[in-house]
Amino acid sequence: MIYRKKIVAGNWKMNKTTGEAKILVEDIIRDIGKFDDVEIVLCPPFTSLEAVSVLLSPVQNIRLGAQNLHEASSGAFTGAFTGEISAGMLKDLYVRYVIIGHSELRQFFHEDDALVNRKTKAALQAELRPIVCIGETLPQRESNQWKKVLETQLRAGLAGFGDKELGDIILAYEPIWAIGTGKTASPEQAEEAHQWIRKVLATHFSQSASERIRIQYGGSVKPENAKELLSKPDIDGALVGGASLDARGFTAIIKNACPA
Ligand code: PEP
Repeated sequence: MIYRKKIVAGNWKMNKTTGEAKILVEDIIRDIGKFDDVEIVLCPPFTSLEAVSVLLSPVQNIRLGAQNLHEASSGAFTGAFTGEISAGMLKDLYVRYVIIGHSELRQFFHEDDALVNRKTKAALQAELRPIVCIGETLPQRESNQWKKVLETQLRAGLAGFGDKELGDIILAYEPIWAIGTGKTASPEQAEEAHQWIRKVLATHFSQSASERIRIQYGGSVKPENAKELLSKPDIDGALVGGASLDARGFTAIIKNACPA
């Protein structure tokens, strides 16, 4: 069986001033100590990336991620993009991961799968590791459309990539009905979705690439439910929103991600 190191990422969303971000990072560094059984990623807002980067520079077991990027490499040749941030700007701050296609961007900023695909390409070209989010809405789950929805998102979002690119991508299955709602997919529902994702990937990529890719679960993950969710064989970690804003809770989730 292929070994996949678990990966837990904290998505701080639009939270924390720079001062608050520094306190949170210092607390996480202290609470997590040298624990490195799990890959740990912190994704603060753009405004705190530099401060968090400085704090993480001597730390081996926690990495920096961003919450978004623009698909263009710069405004110089391809147009003007006021307010946007490129992959190169993130690299400059030692960012190593970037969340792409989060459901809140899909919902409120009309990001579609084609844009997710272009952003993922931009991240890969800059040697950033994309965390590509997919997931269905509540009506899609209730009308049993979820498999089709996930397949469409995977096909279009990962179009043009091969096994090599897939090897650098992390997927996050985030059922939209479970994000920030307090509702969590049951471990069985999440495992079933993760198995489906691997099955779809095996038809578009190789079987071994579909077994190697890490798939996080996201949607109201908390210290109380992390162990059960993350003990499922196809769940390789978590993308954590609300609960990542509390150092104790976040480190408890990370420690619960490990097989006992
Ligand atoms: C998220 O922001 O990706 C997320 C899963 O949020 P929450 O954990 O708050 O549901």
